[in-house]
Amino acid sequence: MTQLAPEILNRFAAIIGDKYVLLSSRDMARYLDEPRKKFHGNAAAVLKPASTQEVSEILALANETGTAIIPQGGNTGLVGGQIPDDSGEQIILSLERLSKIRHVDAAQNILTIEAGATLETAQKAAEEVGRFLPLSLASQGSCTIGGNLATNAGGLNVVAYGSARDLCLGLEVVLADGRIWSGLNTLRKNNTGYDLKNLFIGAEGTLGVITAAVLKLYPASQSRATAFLAVSSPAKALELLNLAQQQSGERVTTIELLPREGLEFTVKHQQTRDPFDQPHPWYVLLELSSSRPGNELANNVEEILASALDQDIAIDAVIAQSDRQTTDIWAIRELLPETQKNEGGSIKHDISVPLDKISLFLEQASIAVINLIPGARPVAFGHIGDGNIHFNVTQPVDADTDAFLARWDEVNKVVHDIATGMGGSVSAEHGIGQLKRHLMPDIKSTVELDLMIGLKRQLDPNNILNPGKLLP
Ligand SMILES: Cc1cc2nc3c(=O)[nH]c(=O)nc-3n(C[C@H](O)[C@H](O)[C@H](O)COP(=O)(O)OP(=O)(O)OC[C@H]3O[C@@H](n4cnc5c(N)ncnc54)[C@H](O)[C@@H]3O)c2cc1C
Repeated sequence: MTQLAPEILNRFAAIIGDKYVLLSSRDMARYLDEPRKKFHGNAAAVLKPASTQEVSEILALANETGTAIIPQGGNTGLVGGQIPDDSGEQIILSLERLSKIRHVDAAQNILTIEAGATLETAQKAAEEVGRFLPLSLASQGSCTIGGNLATNAGGLNVVAYGSARDLCLGLEVVLADGRIWSGLNTLRKNNTGYDLKNLFIGAEGTLGVITAAVLKLYPASQSRATAFLAVSSPAKALELLNLAQQQSGERVTTIELLPREGLEFTVKHQQTRDPFDQPHPWYVLLELSSSRPGNELANNVEEILASALDQDIAIDAVIAQSDRQTTDIWAIRELLPETQKNEGGSIKHDISVPLDKISLFLEQASIAVINLIPGARPVAFGHIGDGNIHFNVTQPVDADTDAFLARWDEVNKVVHDIATGMGGSVSAEHGIGQLKRHLMPDIKSTVELDLMIGLKRQLDPNNILNPGKLLP
């Protein structure tokens, strides 16, 4: 139910038209819950502007009236950053109608696109001109470019191309007072003072609303080779990465780690097949891509696998021989997060540690959570080349799910302490949002917090942009 004064709501509606103001619980429902159902909010309204100018007018009015604005893209964020509080006084600013491709330029390898376009739309726009946008997430059909930049999303190709920040050349942002910063830079080199775009990337909508971006494109991939390997430890997976990078001239675009338990889960619940006859403790999905067509890459991956087996880096290996086999290998990795649900509750972590600490982290964190909850099943998988492991802990078999999930903070603390003790991060790619906000005083120094709070005050003195998120 609406908690904002009707005259204020009427002024917002006058900017975009009544049709694009959602007020009923039914119409707003899909904007108020997030994918993991950990956060639910209430809102006075969902506003759906279609232009940067409309966003500007909305923020100017919000700033004047002290109305909190919660920017929302595809609502796939995993830390509750896009969900309002439960007061019913905040407004969700949905960017979904701001979704035009403004310009795609194959010769310059750039794409200028509005913030509400989905990542998949951006990828397709690049493909249509023979180019490749490397950002790749399982949520790409729904997540938006604005959300990707606001969270500095990572995903599957970071090892080769970096995260969303590395793929962005320029931004258009509406500031809290409604002013528009037109920073749609297309230059590769531009050393003329502070790099303002980097303030807004990863700021989770607390400093400004991103309305458009210039993204870097790459030559389209013409061939790829996908392999699935069995290794004895995560340390061997990292040796494999080094070997593959050395022998492929940096064509490794994906390297993902999976534990035996994870493979068993997908085989049991999702009709995937174990590619090997014997069980092995750890697995690696390795993919190489090239902009050159032909068999060169297939030969290259065969050489890498032969060296890995020769040097006792890998125990066993298979190479996909068809598109079908490639899909089957990828399914084992992609279905894993979903399939964990069939085994009951799962307590999630999105940590990163320095690469040389991954094995030690996995060993110590697994022992610690099993000591805390006997029978708990650590299922650690993810982007090993970035030091980023989704250390998800599945409940003991036949345990009470609610009782297990009630220990979420306790388990998080044990795992986070081990990661930070090794110089790691408690949020490698999903951000802080509401979920990890309480950790900020522990993970940031006083100087860092002072700078962050100072920037927030400067850019959003009335605290209208995503209050209650990110900052302690
Ligand atoms: C199945 C699944 C797989 C995922 N895989 C990955 C992964 O591999 N790597 C990864 O990094 N993340 C992953 N995510 C998390 C999520 O998809 C990303 O965080 C994504 O970038 C969020 O985009 P969105 O448009 O959905 O943003 P939302 O969820 O709508 O918002 C996320 C945050 O960004 C802010 N925001 C949104 N749009 C704007 C804007 N235009 N201007 C300013 N602030 C804005 C919001 O206020 C909020 O704080 C996954 C999520 C799911 C459900």
